[in-house]
Amino acid sequence: MIPYGRQDISESDIDAVVDVLRSPFLTQGPVVPKFEASVSSSVGAHFAVSVNSATSALHIAMLALGVGCGDIVWTSPITFVASSNAALYCGASVDFVDIDRRTGNLCVSALAHKLEHASLSGRLPKVVVPVHMSGNSCEMATIKKLSEKFGFKVLEDASHAIGGQYGGLPVGSCAYSDIAVFSFHPVKIITTGEGGMAVTNDLELHSKMEMLRSHGITRDPKKIIKSDGEWYYEQQMLGFNYRMTDLAAALGLSQMTRLQEFINYRNQLASKYDDFLSELPLTLPKVEDGTLSSRHLYVIQLERPEHVNRHATIFSDLRDRGVGVNLHYIPVYRQPYYASMDCDFASCPQAEQYYASAISIPLYHGMSDQDQTTVITALAEVLV
Ligand SMILES: *Cc1c(COP(=O)(O)O)cnc(C)c1O
Repeated sequence: MIPYGRQDISESDIDAVVDVLRSPFLTQGPVVPKFEASVSSSVGAHFAVSVNSATSALHIAMLALGVGCGDIVWTSPITFVASSNAALYCGASVDFVDIDRRTGNLCVSALAHKLEHASLSGRLPKVVVPVHMSGNSCEMATIKKLSEKFGFKVLEDASHAIGGQYGGLPVGSCAYSDIAVFSFHPVKIITTGEGGMAVTNDLELHSKMEMLRSHGITRDPKKIIKSDGEWYYEQQMLGFNYRMTDLAAALGLSQMTRLQEFINYRNQLASKYDDFLSELPLTLPKVEDGTLSSRHLYVIQLERPEHVNRHATIFSDLRDRGVGVNLHYIPVYRQPYYASMDCDFASCPQAEQYYASAISIPLYHGMSDQDQTTVITALAEVLV
């Protein structure tokens, strides 16, 4: 089966991890800050906090932004559940903004409309989480303008999008947001096994997230209220153990040296799909001018009603032909856990249509030309 995504590990990645195994520090050593510096300089943000997953990064980011009981967080329904679960961890409630079907991203006019309504009823969100679906940035300039008008914070879920660009800047520069979060799960653009990172330009958010990552503890003499001696540390808030190990950071640091190569190859695969699939009755992913997608995923949408009716059959026919398709994502409000919550299903018709027709087809760094031809041929055969 040709997978929809997978990691690409080089001999130097392996050597980098083995070097840490032979070193004095497996965790809390020198490689973690090196990996953080590599990511923050690559994405053009001042500060980075590495953690053991993007889910943890979303959690500490929300806490640093002050999300708590009684607050509302808005995100896209077409995302992995972690984007909204993180708000629930903080005791907040969640609501969903419909998407733009062409990109799969949160629709900025739906957002503007929903904000006007929420403003009248006094139910404005504290934080909005734009998710850069498939690595294709949301319309951040508009989202930033709305955040200034309506007074919410912006937390980018850039789990798919390291290496992408928007408005001439790397995704993660935080020019339009307070914090951006990346995932290093093996199917994502670069990997650390499990891992994630939060980046920001705000010193205070950085300092809070660093403490939250490690039990809420600080050893920094500038932050300690009163020291009893050199052994002294202080727990100043309730944090977690969300630390990344040096083993994981070494893999990430080594993978960062190939980030550009990964992005180029993924875009090359995507343009071959764009060319060869344009003849089929499919809606292909749209990337706006001035945006560079990291091409984490390539999501096609069935166009003809007779195909949409056979969505599940077409999906399993592709798997039967050795094409490891997937579906990103089931709208979060459809999850049984979310059913008891006060989410407005009917207000996301675009997300519903997208879910009824979307299929993610294989795209990853080691994918061969022949594998890609197999995918294209299989699609042409099943779409009769
Ligand atoms: C993968 C992913 C996450 C969670 O990442 P982990 O590192 O697995 O915790 C969150 N949001 C989105 C959009 C993702 O794709």
